[in-house]
Amino acid sequence: MTVIAAGGRPTGAAIAPADDDATWMRLALEAARRAGLAGEPPIGACLVRDGAVVATASNCVVSSLDITAHAEVSVIREACRRERTLELAGCTLYSTVEPCPMCFAASHYARIGRIVFGASLADFDELTGSELTGGRATGGGPRLDGGCLREESLALLRRWAGGGGR
Ligand SMILES: [Zn+2]
Repeated sequence: MTVIAAGGRPTGAAIAPADDDATWMRLALEAARRAGLAGEPPIGACLVRDGAVVATASNCVVSSLDITAHAEVSVIREACRRERTLELAGCTLYSTVEPCPMCFAASHYARIGRIVFGASLADFDELTGSELTGGRATGGGPRLDGGCLREESLALLRRWAGGGGR
């Protein structure tokens, strides 16, 4: 498992100035290097709130056989599990690479307030030719067919939203 507690300290312990982005990015880079050494894509992330690390994670798609186990999704999962919540308001996500649309969406749904990244998706796409930049797959992607049983699907959502949503 590549999700780790920050330096073995209890969650919530302050370990560096809150406004020092490079300090937190170095933590994400450490996680990225660990991933690379383990044969994973070398990408790392950490979540910080009020000057303290909430969780750190690295990409582990290969070892977990989970194509969604990007560093950012993994760090969000771990933070939500630790805090027993679906919302990470007030957190800043640090990632060594700009979050892909999946990770950006997960950050949005978790109500993360700020994302700081190192390399851009355009940088990554130059190397791999298969990233999703601007929401579009440069190397092809699934066909999107909408509207199938829309009314039935929408009725479930209406009932849920009418009850206040999540
Ligand atoms: Zn991602």
